[in-house]
Amino acid sequence: MTKDAVENVVIVGSGPAAWTAALYAARARLSPLVVEGAPSREMIPGGQLMFTTEVENYPGFPDGVTGQLLMERMKAQAVRFDTRVLTDDIVTVETSGRPFVLRTAGGDELRSRSVVIATGARANWLGLEHEQRLAQSGGGVSACAVCDGALPAFREKVLAVVGGGDSAMEEATYLTKFARKVVIIHRRDEFRASTIMTEKALQDPKIDVAWNTVVTDVLGDDFITGLRLQDTISGEERELEVGGLFLAIGHTPNTAFLRNTVELDEDGYIVTARSWRTETSVPGIFAAGDVMDPYYRQAVTAAGTGCMAALEAERWLAHGGAAARAEASPAASTS
Ligand code: NAP
Repeated sequence: MTKDAVENVVIVGSGPAAWTAALYAARARLSPLVVEGAPSREMIPGGQLMFTTEVENYPGFPDGVTGQLLMERMKAQAVRFDTRVLTDDIVTVETSGRPFVLRTAGGDELRSRSVVIATGARANWLGLEHEQRLAQSGGGVSACAVCDGALPAFREKVLAVVGGGDSAMEEATYLTKFARKVVIIHRRDEFRASTIMTEKALQDPKIDVAWNTVVTDVLGDDFITGLRLQDTISGEERELEVGGLFLAIGHTPNTAFLRNTVELDEDGYIVTARSWRTETSVPGIFAAGDVMDPYYRQAVTAAGTGCMAALEAERWLAHGGAAARAEASPAASTS
């Protein structure tokens, strides 16, 4: 990117919403710049699908496709049509003037007539002291079974999965490939997961469920050895010996960098100005995917809203929403 370049559209994120927005924007000759995020312990470019094994509900793949391959292909398709990619994180978005100014963790300053935010969401933790300590030290606590479950340390162990949604079912089922036994720990007496995924988990002989149970402590010095559990009805406490703990208790939208810019709801999700539109409270800034969708949260709906955001950005630019549309791609530095 040259310093004074003004982009037509900067797309922040690298999941299905971001790559679909890029594909549409690129084919509309907007020469989009995707800021795909830098790899960290919690997130890698490509987003949550990078932590999924088989995706069986994305149309067009009758035999299923891995999350990683799906993201690789979406990125390749966007790049084929003049999408540029920057591997960095956006840390601030300035909306007081025009063009918008986006600053990266690496010190770049990007200026753009329009912005699509597609930064998705990240895993939640229980917030227990030893959970955090062991998660950070590689001590057998993880919020991503698909990333870490195949590690030798978890082989033939009793592993615990906390949660009662589709993620918990999926992760528990996945872990049975390596574990001696998987115990799903759920705070209520019924799962919120879909019937098909619940049935698959409950029918698996390697999966047990601890109903009405919460984790109150994580035990172990260098590596997890067990959990302290509490029955939510009787209040009784007990210990469960485990060799791994996997959290699957939902996600938080990645919107911390947007504070005091676009309107967010009480959970931090971006609020769109109208239903069936992706424009945010700031004209020229659009939102797509899990960062604005606490309800569906599917790859296919994320891709759909990515398409919507790019079409809206294109129309907004074409109708003079920004002062003028750049004639040609202004920047060159890409990965
Ligand atoms: P989710 O549906 O929000 O479920 C989170 C689960 O964690 C709930 O069962 C919740 O319990 C429990 N929980 C939350 N906070 C907790 C805490 N502090 N302590 C103990 N338990 C806690 O999240 P998700 O399973 O990640 O699914 C998110 C979305 O992705 C859903 O729409 C889901 O359908 C979708 N998804 C789909 C697939 C697939 O189709 N292959 C796979 C994964 C996810 P309560 O039930 O008591 O609230």
